[in-house]
Amino acid sequence: MKIRVNASKSYDVWIEKGARLGVADELKERGFKGKVAVISDSNVAPLYSEEMCDYLAYAGFEPYSFVFEAGEESKNLSVYAKILSFLAEEEFTRTDTVLALGGGVTGDMAGFAAATYMRGVRFVNVPTTLLAAIDSSVGGKTAVDLPQGKNLVGAFYQPDLVVCDTDFFKTLPYDEIRNGLGEGVKYAVLEGGRIFDILKQGITSENLDEFISLSIDAKRRIVEEDEKESGARKFLNLGHTIAHAVEKESNYSVPHGLAVAYGIKLMADTAKKRGELSEKDHSEIVSLLEKSDLSVDLMPLCDLIPHFSADKKRAGERLTLVTILGIGDCRLKEIALSEANEYFGV
Ligand code: ADP
Ligand code: ZN
Repeated sequence: MKIRVNASKSYDVWIEKGARLGVADELKERGFKGKVAVISDSNVAPLYSEEMCDYLAYAGFEPYSFVFEAGEESKNLSVYAKILSFLAEEEFTRTDTVLALGGGVTGDMAGFAAATYMRGVRFVNVPTTLLAAIDSSVGGKTAVDLPQGKNLVGAFYQPDLVVCDTDFFKTLPYDEIRNGLGEGVKYAVLEGGRIFDILKQGITSENLDEFISLSIDAKRRIVEEDEKESGARKFLNLGHTIAHAVEKESNYSVPHGLAVAYGIKLMADTAKKRGELSEKDHSEIVSLLEKSDLSVDLMPLCDLIPHFSADKKRAGERLTLVTILGIGDCRLKEIALSEANEYFGV
């Protein structure tokens, strides 16, 4: 199926098993031409890059492959600059295309290169992780990290096309699936309804496409309303203030999806304690986390709250939390940093 995202630029997200084999023809049909830089990391390249380049060449494109060392550490200015130099050396022009083939690291960095090389070239995102498929590939955020923090340099740049092939997940390590599910639980709690039910039943090969489509559609609605994160997009931060603190406190050894799952758990616990969330919805959220193998007890809130002051999403001394009043009923709540202990009851 295809989901149309109407942001400052409109683009399609194509979700289908085996879609990667049709990317080249799809690009041709859409009028793309010339050079395509396939950017991937050292894990993904041996699995899928050659195949992608072959299909591109067969469809009449001039494919070039750029491979970088896998890992978040590579999402930095130096690898970003290498991608730019690579494009310049291969004489890419404004009508040529950058194609990200990989997880969030690849999509974010290749997207930022596409946004900035010659002030912007065509960008196609082909996410190969569950996390990137349901989260980072839609919404137009591109970035690299600085030694001082993650995603500190970047741009909003919408892709021309996003292609999600669920077959990619067959080679994904289990930890990476779990990582994606953490973000999936976020959509389930924000939206309720069918996404929640699918996760409650457990993801199977039968409902995977539907789960991805519903998650992407949820994200679409939010980013269409608020492309640059001034209002509705803040809901996507559910569980993330705590998640970022967990990541910092653990020196980034806790994977993002797990940290988000834990953040959602603590937000649900807090809301229950404050009498804002019913016993029933709280226990449904807890069992959803268990069902997704995301039931973790990582570290106490009192160790996490001191990190809130470093949250990038904070405005001055105030912080916007996404509170859970029910399944499918979350609200934004602004508190002062100094009120955090009291709010969380620690
Ligand atoms: P994300 O931010 O989406 O979790 P990353 O880009 O950090 O993604 O990728 C997570 C890890 O999974 C990386 O080591 C990457 O090389 C690897 N990876 C990505 N896609 C696949 C895939 N389809 N099969 C196997 N490994 C993959
Ligand atoms: Zn996230």
